[in-house]
Amino acid sequence: MKSACAECDCLWEEYSQAAAAHVKVVIEHHKAVIQRATGVIDEIARLEYELAERELKARRAIRDHEAEHEQL
Ligand SMILES: [Zn+2]
Repeated sequence: MKSACAECDCLWEEYSQAAAAHVKVVIEHHKAVIQRATGVIDEIARLEYELAERELKARRAIRDHEAEHEQL
């Protein structure tokens, strides 16, 4: 991903961080289910939901920003 736009770089950075954190929590969730760690499953599920939202928002921000580029 090569770009000359600082805003693009910043948005992609946020997206890749959110996506990486989301993947990590999805794995943690699977582990908790396999280990039947019922005490932490609710907490992990909540975190997973929050990170999914963050990832979605970051993706939307990139799409909106790229649309601004196309208008120029
Ligand atoms: Zn840009």
